[in-house]
Amino acid sequence: MSAAAQQDVASATDPQALVREDLRDFAGYRSARSESLQGRIWLNANESPWRNDADGDGTLRRYPDPQPQALRNALADLYGCAPEQLLAGRGSDEGIDLLVRAVCRPGGDAILISTPTFGMYAVSARLHGTRVVDVPLREDAQGWQCDFAAVATAVRRDGVKLVFLCSPGNPTGALMPLSAIAALARQLDGQALVVVDEAYQEYANGPSAITLLPAHRNVVVLRTLSKAHALAAARIGSVIADPELIEVLRRCQAPYPLPVACVEQALQALAPAARAATGEHIATVLGERESLRSALAAAPGVRRAYASSANFVLVRFDDAQAAFDRLLSAGVVVRDMRAAPGLGDALRISIGTPEQNRQVIALLAGGAA
Ligand SMILES: *Cc1c(COP(=O)(O)O)cnc(C)c1O
Repeated sequence: MSAAAQQDVASATDPQALVREDLRDFAGYRSARSESLQGRIWLNANESPWRNDADGDGTLRRYPDPQPQALRNALADLYGCAPEQLLAGRGSDEGIDLLVRAVCRPGGDAILISTPTFGMYAVSARLHGTRVVDVPLREDAQGWQCDFAAVATAVRRDGVKLVFLCSPGNPTGALMPLSAIAALARQLDGQALVVVDEAYQEYANGPSAITLLPAHRNVVVLRTLSKAHALAAARIGSVIADPELIEVLRRCQAPYPLPVACVEQALQALAPAARAATGEHIATVLGERESLRSALAAAPGVRRAYASSANFVLVRFDDAQAAFDRLLSAGVVVRDMRAAPGLGDALRISIGTPEQNRQVIALLAGGAA
């Protein structure tokens, strides 16, 4: 990179510098599959020479490709990045876990979260023996706001190496401005990675944080096929980041993370016909979202129904238990958020089909819940 181009890069430090020192030259497990040898008779991985009787065409006999290029290419095309910037794994949950393990020293470094937020960041940190620093979201008339200045201060003060921003936020539904994320990444250059969990980005109006990657080497984006693409059981998530960092994470990943059946399903789901149908389903959710929110806001016993950039609505009730019970007795299961910090009166309601949403509204509008 020329000196002039270097100046344009807002966060230019090689993000590998943030990887645990003891893992920087870690090669990981060298599987038989990772030695790119050619041959006719494969006797290098202790696989059975016969197929299982239940495995029709024998596709399950061999260990799978750790990162099938066709899948990497299809996901990169979907998300608008280069294949080298993307690591596929077992849901974004695995991405979260890989980041915590590769970056944070157990017992030393910390991650930062802004509650209320997705629970897996703190779970992964706890399992890894890593501290969790919380800079809670602030609530105002517009909704939920991330206190970016307080985040930057806490990173410097508390030895934070990973900042988890969930945008659109689960369970808030709130979108964080990309300009603020970019400014934070610039401020934390060389100190911390800024991880933007975009599990619900397909439902947001606006560009992905992936567009920040060219200028900000310390930004990491998490995407998943579990939500808008309706493939939760296939467990296909992506970490999108600087290619050098992706390579480090790949070496920390389990040897064969992607079952062949899941890869095949994902490839079919990313073909044009399935992508078009997914797009129609997303459009339906977007068409329902504000009418569901405003109907909920107007229902008796509702304190607040938050505007959402995702496929759910967060709702506060005078009596959340009564609302939960009313829905459940009609067979409608929603997420009870009352154990989450600051959400002692809230439920999170996923947006369903138009008919399902009408039922939710009818049940809650039917009386003081
Ligand atoms: C659902 C969800 C995930 C998990 O996604 P998987 O790819 O299924 O592991 C990650 N982050 C957030 C914010 C989620 O809501």
